[in-house]
Amino acid sequence: MYGFFALLVHGVIYSMVMGAVFRTRHSTGLGVFFCLLGTMHFLETYLAATFFIELPFGLISPGSTVMFTGKLAFFLLLYIKEDAEVMRQPIYGLLAGNVLMIALGLILRLYGQTANLPGYNPDFNFVDQMGLLMVVGSLLLFIDLIALVIIYERLGRSIAKTVPMRMFISLSLVLSFDQAFFYLGLHFLAGVPSSAFFGGWIAKIAAAAFFSLVMTVYLHVFERQPLPARARSAGDVFDRLTYRHRYERLVERVGRDALTGLLDRGQLDAKGAEMLQAAARSNASLSLMMIDIDHFKSVNDSHGHVVGDGVIRTIAETIAATKGEGAELFRYGGEEFALLCPQALPEAMALAEHIRAAVADNRHPELERTMTVSIGIAAFPTHARTFWRLIEKADAALYQAKAAGRNRVSPALPS
Ligand code: GH3
Ligand code: MG
Ligand code: MG
Repeated sequence: MYGFFALLVHGVIYSMVMGAVFRTRHSTGLGVFFCLLGTMHFLETYLAATFFIELPFGLISPGSTVMFTGKLAFFLLLYIKEDAEVMRQPIYGLLAGNVLMIALGLILRLYGQTANLPGYNPDFNFVDQMGLLMVVGSLLLFIDLIALVIIYERLGRSIAKTVPMRMFISLSLVLSFDQAFFYLGLHFLAGVPSSAFFGGWIAKIAAAAFFSLVMTVYLHVFERQPLPARARSAGDVFDRLTYRHRYERLVERVGRDALTGLLDRGQLDAKGAEMLQAAARSNASLSLMMIDIDHFKSVNDSHGHVVGDGVIRTIAETIAATKGEGAELFRYGGEEFALLCPQALPEAMALAEHIRAAVADNRHPELERTMTVSIGIAAFPTHARTFWRLIEKADAALYQAKAAGRNRVSPALPS
C-alpha cells in the first residue's frame, strides 16, 4: 500500500514539474525542458537498474514506471504540440551525451593512480555500467519514439480517434516492446530477476493510463488551442525523425547548379563520357551543343546581376522545355549551357535551330529587348571520337556562330 502511494506521489510531482516547464516553453525556451529531460534520463536509468520495490504483482522499478513512461508521454506531447523536427532534437542530444559519457569514462583510466582520500572512491565500474546502460537505453528510446509516433499517427486514421485513447494504445504497445528489450539488457548487465519483467510490465501499462490521463487534462486545461491537423505518413515521420529528408535533399542537390537547378559542369564530364561509351557500344550517335547567350554582359551592365540571373534562369527553362526526351542539359559556365542529345548531326542541327528560335521568341518583361543564343554543335562519331575532343569541336563551332553574327547555329568543321 505504501508503495502505491509513493508511486503516485512520484508520478504527480514528476508530471507537475515537467508539465509546468513544458507549459512555459514559449517564454523560457524549449532548452530548459530539454535539459530537464536529460537530467531525468540519467536518474531514471540508474533507478531502473538498481531500485526496485515489491508489490503484490511483482518487482517494479519506480524509475522505469514513473520516469520512463512519463518521458515517453512528454515526448509524445512534444510531438503533438510542436513537431517531429523539434522532438528529434533531445533524442540526438541524449544519444550523443551518453556516447560521450562512455568515452570520457574510459579516458579516466589515463590518470593512473588517483588521490586516496577517505570517503572519495571513484567507482569506474559504475561509470562504465551506467554509460553502457544509458547508450543502450537511448538507442532503445530512439526506436521507441519512432514507433510511438508512427503508431500514434496510424491510430489517428483508423481505430482510435480520440487523443487519450491514441496516447494510451500507442504508449502501451511501445512500453511492452521496450520492457522486453530493456529487461533483457538489465538481466544480462545487472542480473535483474525475471519477476521484475512482469511486475514492471503491469506497472508500465498502469502508468501509461495515468500519463494519458495527465496529458489529456493538461491539453484541456492549459493548451486549449486545437491541435495542429497533420496526417503524416509513417514514412514521412521516419524521414523527419532520422534527418533522412535532409540527406535526400542533399543527394538531390549534389551535382546541381543552384541558380538553374540544372546538372553542373562536373556532371557533364562524367555523364558525357558515359553517354559517349554507350553510343559507341551500340553504334548510335551523340551530339553535343554548346549554347552561349548573346551580348549577355550588357544585361548585367544595364539592369544589374539580379535581372541577369533571372534571364539565365528563363533561358535555361526554355532550353529544357525544348530539348526533347533523352537529352541532358547542363549549366556549363556563367551563361553557357551544354546539351547532350542522342541525335546524329542533321537532326541535332534541326533541334538546335528549334531551341534558338524558342529562345528568340521568349519575352523578358524586365528588358526592352529579346535575348538570343548562339549554338555550336559537334557530333560523335562524325567530328570526334573522345569526349574532350567533342567539347573542343563544339566550342570552336560556337566561336564560329558568334563570329558569323550571333543568333545562329554552326556545326563543327569536319575533322
Ligand atoms: P557574347 O555574345 O560574345 O557571348 O557576349 P557576352 O556579353 O555574353 O559575353 P560573355 O559570354 O563573355 O559574357 C559572360 C558574362 O556573363 C560575364 C559575366 O559578367 C556574366 N555572368 C556569368 N555568370 C553569371 C551569373 O551567374 N549571373 C549573372 N547575372 N551574370 C553572369
Ligand atoms: Mg555570352
Ligand atoms: Mg559566355
